[in-house]
Amino acid sequence: MTRREFLERSAFAAGGAMLRYPAAAPWYRRTYRWGQTNITEKDPVRYDIPWWREYWKRTAVQGVIINAGGIVAYYPSRFPLQHRAEFLRDRDLFGELTKAAHEDGLFVLARMDSNRTAEDFFQAHPDWFARARDGHPYRAADKYITCINSPYYDEYLPDVMREIIERSRPDGFTDNSWAGMGRESICFCENCERIFRARTGKPLPRDADWNDPVYRDWIMWNYARRTEIWELNNRVTRAAGGPDCIWSGMNSGSVTAQARSFRDLKAICARADIMLLDHQRRDDDTGFQQNGDTGKRVHGLLGWDKLAPESMAMYESGPGYYRVASKPAAEARMWMIAGIAGGIQPWWHHVGAYQEDRRAFHTAEPVMRWWKANEQYLIDRTPVAGVGLVWSQRNADFFGRDAVAQRVDAPYTGFMHALVRARIPYLPVHADDIDRDAAGLAVLILPNVGALSDAQVAAIRRFAQKGGSLVATGDTGRYDEWGDPRPDFALADLFACHTIGDTPNLEGRSRPDAGPRASVHTYLRLPPGARHPVLHGFDETDILAFGGILSPLRVDAAAAVPLTFVPPFPTYPPETSWMRQPATDIPGLVLSERGRARVAYLPADIDRRYAGEHLPDHAALLANVVRWAAGAAGPLAVEGPGLIDCHLYQQAGRMILHLVNLTSEATWRAPLDELIRVGPFIVKIRLAPGRARRVARLLVAGSETPVRMEGEMGVVTVDAILDHEVIVIG
Ligand SMILES: [Zn+2]
Repeated sequence: MTRREFLERSAFAAGGAMLRYPAAAPWYRRTYRWGQTNITEKDPVRYDIPWWREYWKRTAVQGVIINAGGIVAYYPSRFPLQHRAEFLRDRDLFGELTKAAHEDGLFVLARMDSNRTAEDFFQAHPDWFARARDGHPYRAADKYITCINSPYYDEYLPDVMREIIERSRPDGFTDNSWAGMGRESICFCENCERIFRARTGKPLPRDADWNDPVYRDWIMWNYARRTEIWELNNRVTRAAGGPDCIWSGMNSGSVTAQARSFRDLKAICARADIMLLDHQRRDDDTGFQQNGDTGKRVHGLLGWDKLAPESMAMYESGPGYYRVASKPAAEARMWMIAGIAGGIQPWWHHVGAYQEDRRAFHTAEPVMRWWKANEQYLIDRTPVAGVGLVWSQRNADFFGRDAVAQRVDAPYTGFMHALVRARIPYLPVHADDIDRDAAGLAVLILPNVGALSDAQVAAIRRFAQKGGSLVATGDTGRYDEWGDPRPDFALADLFACHTIGDTPNLEGRSRPDAGPRASVHTYLRLPPGARHPVLHGFDETDILAFGGILSPLRVDAAAAVPLTFVPPFPTYPPETSWMRQPATDIPGLVLSERGRARVAYLPADIDRRYAGEHLPDHAALLANVVRWAAGAAGPLAVEGPGLIDCHLYQQAGRMILHLVNLTSEATWRAPLDELIRVGPFIVKIRLAPGRARRVARLLVAGSETPVRMEGEMGVVTVDAILDHEVIVIG
């Protein structure tokens, strides 16, 4: 039973209404809006605390993140090797700010940043530092990298945190770089040698080699150590600061970034009371919509009753870094809004207490105040979707290996973009949680999920046996959880096709130059005559541009093959650009039906192509395939112009729909400077049977509008959307 169900049942049993959370609920359940001024070493002589208190108030924050210690200390520590900020002298800036925040009724997270030190520390404790194979310490600029398996983490940092608690009583802790050195470097220090041998009976792997069982053990051992650090730090802070004084290190919204730093998102979410996301901006490949995806992915693991605030840069953070220049307000605002639509709570982030570009101080305020005014609709809700997009960090590691962007990220992102474009609400579903999280879904999408364990395969089969439909692409299930090839697709019977000949090992699987944007001059051929519904909209063409990767297959007799491969031919000079082989029997798409379950297997990597090239035909084909697999209409339909990201939720007695306007001159390239109004929209939402007369509230326009019923769909007209709109029907 979830916390929410428990509360609802308790309220029912008590026969009366009750508060969502009692006032005594711990801070991490009721601190929704956050602010962070990342303190530079210069700030102790220029930090205008009264000004910042006013800013806290103006932006309606309930909690602040304040630099305490680690690489740099902002209080006079009794540990002489904890480097004091250059301009700190004997000032206790952390303590003063904590006191001010507490006086203002705010909660305080002490921020650590703790994976490296200055040289004097290294000289004093040379055995606490990460070492390369030749014995040299790993360094980052003038700092030395601490080893995650050394007493620096087991003894020193816990002592520092106890000191901070004794002095200033923060409400909890976070850490910017808690996971230590990433996957790119193997530490050969004596601690690592000894502990790895004790755990596995083997010496450390000499090099990164995904096929080496010792390297695989090393990867898993590193993950386990980070999870152990998470638990250790929580024991330390709770013992010293009380049961609510939790420690919650920062995590990325990117699975690949989590994998590179051994932060197991699933294991961490199982242990976290609040998720603090350090995921400050979009990149051009994934867009603002990636933040909505992040919110849904994290809540899928964490639960929708817990909070997941996210650090959002108010400075220019990408593609170039300008720490003290204001990010264009529209760009920062849309990242905030996209995250909020996915269930993320807002958290402004400035670097430095003194800013010469004062425009940055106007960006967060309206979003934070809107959030506060509409708080009741933005937390404690359940997402509504008909489609699940399967992912796992294990797949990113052992199938993605050194080509994760191409093998894992691009197919997922391509499908995400196609679903957003088609306004089909979806949920990220972890491959280990299919039984629990896919139960209410009509379709599971497996975007090139190459590495699947036997247990995950069994869960997918159970989903299909109960009538759930599947859409799978590329190498899905062609490898086991270590990335070792299987003799055939693990789901070959469901796909209604089989591999031919040897299954290539992963290293031979991709063209060496095949980044997501690389393509070859190939096509997919549509059949003559009456066409399958998945080819809707393509009546005036017999071919579709392809450009991707595909292997010959043996197809079962009962399956339909509505697309076949056209092999490459020259593009240049144009005189030579004619098809040498206009048709083959190599399938690009295989469709089959088993009882109520429909299965679409796309050998052609259309999802990855769409992420790289954005060809509208690819998006339309993916959406057609998903709609065919779903069979019936979904819970939402939105008609009107533009690129709109739709997030649908349910609360007791009402539906909530976020419409995020991604239509702009900067949709695929940051930064965005101008918001462009689009509309009107006809919005249709499936409603539970109930009252005949209903009214919709528009939380951004601040208006009400009637709901017209069309069968079980409630129909609402939205005249225009500038940045976003949120519709509440209750
Ligand atoms: Zn080490």
